[in-house]
Amino acid sequence: MNLRPAILSLGPALVLSLAGPARAAGPLNVVTTTEDLAAIAREVGGDKIKVESLSRGYQDPHFVEAKPSFIFKLNNADLLIAVGRELEIGWLPPLITQSRNSKVQPGGAGYLDASLNCRILEIPVGQITRAMGDVHPAGNPHYWLDPENGKRIAQAIEGKLTALSPDSAAYFSQREEDFERRVNEGLKRWLAVMAPYKGTKVVTYHRSWPNFAERFGLDVIGYVEPRPGIPPSPSHTLELIKEMKRLNVKIILVEPYFDLKTPNSIARETGAKVLVMPPSVGGEKEITDYIKLFDYDVNLLVTTFKSLGLK
Ligand SMILES: [Zn+2]
Repeated sequence: MNLRPAILSLGPALVLSLAGPARAAGPLNVVTTTEDLAAIAREVGGDKIKVESLSRGYQDPHFVEAKPSFIFKLNNADLLIAVGRELEIGWLPPLITQSRNSKVQPGGAGYLDASLNCRILEIPVGQITRAMGDVHPAGNPHYWLDPENGKRIAQAIEGKLTALSPDSAAYFSQREEDFERRVNEGLKRWLAVMAPYKGTKVVTYHRSWPNFAERFGLDVIGYVEPRPGIPPSPSHTLELIKEMKRLNVKIILVEPYFDLKTPNSIARETGAKVLVMPPSVGGEKEITDYIKLFDYDVNLLVTTFKSLGLK
């Protein structure tokens, strides 16, 4: 019996079905740079997408170690969602180039800069000089830490998924609305418990929290880093301690990926409390989605405010 002709004739059909229509019918392959974006994409895309984040929520999103597997993931992606505002400038651009996937190149149909419709703070005005240090000309990239921006990110993702998969438009729209409804419920809850502490002065390690502080009424009076991305220096730390004593600041917020040595020594000098506060989904085991991120952080803050007898 000669099987050869049968196999040969099956060949091209098999190849076509793998590369063509079968893929279009399956879930879209979505890759995000951070777990926050993956969490929001999951809310909108449901089972019509497969989503994976390149970085983990407990990592510093500015400095992610690029792995060869990232290139493979980007090569297979239908959509890449990035935080933008230069957050990933130190690691993402070469990976996109090496992926050789034209869809996910910036400006491509499968690329989304999630920041475009968001409220962005700290956009420098006037000329940027070297003396200003590591300034983000595009503004502060930690904008996902305001739930109002979370809704705008979800809307942008809905728009992109709908363009890539128009048949699922109603499905994405219904899920996006449901997400917004739950964020709005959360906002009511978070704003209510934070209200008594409006104006509480804090110091943060990195400039991760301006959007969060604006939304929930914290007053960030200084940073452990002398400039974004620059490690603590003795002279800056001394200045900061002086200022914290003058203003009676009792809380230092530290992102999970920073060394606690300097924050702890500032705390000893000032009597302030060091709070390790995750800025991302996945920053702690129980922070499994975008709403739980705010549940966790707001609860951490309010518990601490109470323990300090602030109100
Ligand atoms: Zn930053």
